[in-house]
Amino acid sequence: MAATKQAAVTPNHAKSEFPTNMSHELRTPLNGILGISQVFQHLPKLTNQEKEDIAIVEKSGLYLLTLINEILDISKIEAGKMELEHQNFNFPDFLKGIVGTYCNSSAEKNIDFIYQFSSDIPVVVKADEKRLRQILLNLLGNAIKFTSRGKVKFTVNIISKETHNESLSLTKVKFEISDTGIGIPTEKLSKIFLAFEQVGATQLKGQGTGLGLAISQKIARMMGSDITVISKLGKGNILSFHLDLNTVLNSPKKLTPKIKIDSNISQNIPLNIIVAQDNIVNEK
Ligand code: ADP
Repeated sequence: MAATKQAAVTPNHAKSEFPTNMSHELRTPLNGILGISQVFQHLPKLTNQEKEDIAIVEKSGLYLLTLINEILDISKIEAGKMELEHQNFNFPDFLKGIVGTYCNSSAEKNIDFIYQFSSDIPVVVKADEKRLRQILLNLLGNAIKFTSRGKVKFTVNIISKETHNESLSLTKVKFEISDTGIGIPTEKLSKIFLAFEQVGATQLKGQGTGLGLAISQKIARMMGSDITVISKLGKGNILSFHLDLNTVLNSPKKLTPKIKIDSNISQNIPLNIIVAQDNIVNEK
């Protein structure tokens, strides 16, 4: 009897353990490959050919890491094992980090990367920083990947604020990522949030898994939100979502944002907005 029960229980147990165990098994050898390729890149006297070869090893390793992470995430979500982990973090710093991640790739593609954050965004919020970053990096990464001229714009605006008590309030924030890229055909719009669906140009399919948006939408829904898309074929997209962010008031953490107003684009925008164009790494 006990043996039968054990046999019935094992498959589910194995299913839920699978993502965690595989994560370790797959990432360990990959960390070895990535670590050694980074060490090799810094060896003196490398020929150009050797440098290129090592860069390919590293790029392939990083791509494999993305694949592994995405496949593990989707299996975790499907096994009902993904949980949000809320902690306090500095919201403007977090947003600057997101922008910093992509300013080089947008500069390399020669497209403008504009960000506009409302000046009254909360300083300290309580949310799942890792998963919110994952959504934003996915949406921005896609916007840059599918845009070859024009711009990618990232805006964060406050929709409403609700004070609960003297230490906590709720801020409704709208995140919007727009691009002037290839857009998505209307009849394919409903597919982009499905796992493994890639509806774009064939030559770009190799640069992704078709899992990013499926994961992002599932995480957004766990956060009580929903990512929506407006698209015009050949003209670009607007992807956006709203989040109710717990805002921690009277926190000792403060931040003075580095503000760069670009004179060409600041003329038509409200003054309470921080605008940066191009590459914030160059500011440092
Ligand atoms: P991928 O790994 O292929 O980027 P995603 O799940 O992130 O997978 O996106 C699914 C598909 O949706 C993409 O392959 C592409 O066809 C389409 N897509 C997503 N974002 C954009 C965008 N900003 N512009 C055009 N197409 C997009």
